Amino acid sequence: MGAEQTPKTPVSMDTIVALAKRRGFVFPGSEIYGGLANTWDFGPLGVELRRNIKHAWWRFFVQLRPDIVGLDGSILLHPRTWEASGHVDEFNDPLIDCRNCRSRYRADTLIEERLGIPADGLSLEELNRIIQEQQPACPTCGQRDWTPVRQFNLMFRTFLGPVESAGTPVFLRPETAQAIFLDYRSVLQSSRVKIPFGIAQIGKAFRNEITPGNFIFRLLEFEQMEIEYFIHPNGWETHFEQWLDAMQAFLSYIGLGTERLRRREHGPSELSHYSKRTIDFEYLFPFGWKELCGLAYRTDFDLRRHQEYSGVDLTYFDQQTGERYLPHVIEPTMGVDRLLLVLLLDAYHEEDAVDVAGKPYRRVVLRFHPRMAPYKAAVLPLMRKPELVAKAQEVWALLRPEFPTDYDETQSIGRRYRRQDEIGTPLCVTIDYDTLEDDSVTIRDRDSMEQVRVPIAELVAALRERLAL
Ligand code: ATP
Repeated sequence: MGAEQTPKTPVSMDTIVALAKRRGFVFPGSEIYGGLANTWDFGPLGVELRRNIKHAWWRFFVQLRPDIVGLDGSILLHPRTWEASGHVDEFNDPLIDCRNCRSRYRADTLIEERLGIPADGLSLEELNRIIQEQQPACPTCGQRDWTPVRQFNLMFRTFLGPVESAGTPVFLRPETAQAIFLDYRSVLQSSRVKIPFGIAQIGKAFRNEITPGNFIFRLLEFEQMEIEYFIHPNGWETHFEQWLDAMQAFLSYIGLGTERLRRREHGPSELSHYSKRTIDFEYLFPFGWKELCGLAYRTDFDLRRHQEYSGVDLTYFDQQTGERYLPHVIEPTMGVDRLLLVLLLDAYHEEDAVDVAGKPYRRVVLRFHPRMAPYKAAVLPLMRKPELVAKAQEVWALLRPEFPTDYDETQSIGRRYRRQDEIGTPLCVTIDYDTLEDDSVTIRDRDSMEQVRVPIAELVAALRERLAL
């Protein structure tokens, strides 16, 4: 890993967006009504990929580890939560409007993209000064007539109760972490966890982002997978390093290569209000190096503030040492949607190939790790002949309880292989006339395109061995 490597040219976003729509991974939201900006729906294959990501994460961090337990907290939390957490005061982006065409931008992004000046974490005064001095052109209309930069809170606000004006304002959570801090005491009391231990949660988060976009990279509504790992205040550096390794190990576990990944440490002005150290894992997207996921040392900021605001004692008592203290927290956080985008980009390959009829073509293949592939196998009768179809249906029924399996009897066998390559199915099982004679089938490998003959009686075991889930 590191910036010094020369990564491969990434695939274009247009190609990925088109493939995602064509094959049923991701659709534009509310499309029949003309769409709702920056909302996306996950189609039949997208939902499988999401489930695989979340399942792998849960297995890797909760099931396989002895020191992490799960939680599923509410999206709506007591409004005081967000005062204590600092989100009411601090969770802002600097907003700027073009007076001419009324387009709205994040001032820091505008400065970075139009002027090439790093601007993450700059104060309002600094941002205003740069805008006034440099007068960047509006990306939409080309004019240079800007409003002053002002803070814009990213939390979605709504009201509890039937009458809006009399209702209690509540927020849709902008991160899943806070429910973990609120329930940390209940987890301590109800389970036998001992520090160091973690609480893991997967759930929706909402941010009224000013400049969402780049497909599903930045969404208004997205899903996070977060762990708050509670530790003794001494020795956080060691835990931090171990968590960096654990995050990298997870990314490898789901098949992500390292050539377009790097780590980047946040500078002092860039750190979130709660963090003392943050390292992002960045991925080389078609639009540049951007955050994929991150690791933050949140200190005891959250527990201390919730203790203060709620008046409830949140200290931890160590039975063995007799010490009482407020735990510190290391937080690895990942977005499901962003990870899904990265898996699509990373899996995408194009190559020259020759089809079963000997014709050259450009092969598009998603080289997903079998763990991530929406379908692990596809059953294909060589032709749509009743006797082949009946046998193929039998084989399909045999495989369905074992792993997600597709079935396709339309079009030529060559086109069907291409379709399975394009959705990343690792193995195709072909039923031909020999199958009717000897009860054996062909397994075709997505990556090598090699074919082997296997008796149906050994098929499940043969597929399992090749998938190595
Ligand atoms: P950014 O700098 O991109 O706004 P952030 O630093 O605010 O992100 P975190 O608060 O660290 O993001 O969120 C944790 C993870 O949640 C991110 O690493 C990312 O994977 C995901 N995430 C954050 N915001 C969004 C969003 N608007 N859409 C999709 N995923 C998101």
